[in-house]
Amino acid sequence: MGGFLFLDLPAGNAFAILRIHQFPFFLKLIKNTPKGIFCIPGKFYIDPWRPVDLAVITHGHGDHARWGMKKYLCHHLTRPILQHRLGADISVESIDYNESVLINGVRLSLHPAGHIVGSAQVRLEYKGYVAVISGDYKLQDDGLSTPFEPVKCNEFVTESTFGLPIYNWLSVDALNDQLRTWVARNRENAKTSVLFGYSLGKAQRLMKAVDGLGEIYTHRSVFELNQIMESSGVELPEYKLLSTEEDKKSLKGNIIIAPPALYDSRFLRKIGDRSTAICSGWMQVRGARRWRSADAGFAVSDHADWQSLITAVKETGAERVHVTHGQTAVFSKYLNEIGIAADEFRTHYGQDEEVLENPNAEPEV
Ligand SMILES: [Zn+2]
Ligand SMILES: [Zn+2]
Repeated sequence: MGGFLFLDLPAGNAFAILRIHQFPFFLKLIKNTPKGIFCIPGKFYIDPWRPVDLAVITHGHGDHARWGMKKYLCHHLTRPILQHRLGADISVESIDYNESVLINGVRLSLHPAGHIVGSAQVRLEYKGYVAVISGDYKLQDDGLSTPFEPVKCNEFVTESTFGLPIYNWLSVDALNDQLRTWVARNRENAKTSVLFGYSLGKAQRLMKAVDGLGEIYTHRSVFELNQIMESSGVELPEYKLLSTEEDKKSLKGNIIIAPPALYDSRFLRKIGDRSTAICSGWMQVRGARRWRSADAGFAVSDHADWQSLITAVKETGAERVHVTHGQTAVFSKYLNEIGIAADEFRTHYGQDEEVLENPNAEPEV
């Protein structure tokens, strides 16, 4: 029965046509709907943006984990993050990486996405056909998230937040060296280093990068997530809660980690001798570094850069790729040019975390 699934491919895509699988052509495993990505035989959604009965959640960022689902399924490490952000009374079940459950005949398992603590790719298998929805991911090992593992599949859903060739990250070690040099110089000059990065994922990476260079003070939003991660067994450097009553002298030469939304907060502006840095993938581009006249910008990202996106897609061996948030048009066009059939999935992702750090951000609709 297989064989007709890819007859709608653009001319010249013989490579993909040659890899026709045996999945019956009249069956589809996943589709994009106005509520989110839907597993058709499984009757559940992955990271839906409208209320549904069962939502499988890839990770705790707000654009993927939304309020109002009857039931949630996620990784063990994501569970307390969802309860913190969506309410202790949500109905949520969790599983481990590589553990599988059967839902309406679909075998579902979670695999590390390397994006933030608890982030998972969702693997779906039905009648021998496999689809993977990767959520957000990165290939670099940040030392906190379980490192990304490629998963073989027929159909792959990828993000493309930084899907342009200009995005090309430094190694984690080289980047951490830059951050440490900057913080150490501020300390020598008795300045407070204020590092801005979103509170779930980026903030903890920054804490780890500057560990040992001074006292780390965290904004409440970071502090609370730190505590949740620690109670799940994640090891973090020592930190304190930054209080608005904080004695300015005790901050001298030390470090503050705060979310980007607080950049213009009165309290932080009142800290006299301070040096500010925005830590985001967008800082790779010179123009973006001038944003808000921060003293420094470091391209620290929890998303895959251009080369990593291509590597990740190739490693899946997928014959069909759907591109979500970010550079969907550019990246899907590129994949088609190298012989991988790709299209765009219009989603509501990309309205939170790193995307909002972008000075020119236009949320997707
Ligand atoms: Zn994310
Ligand atoms: Zn996202």
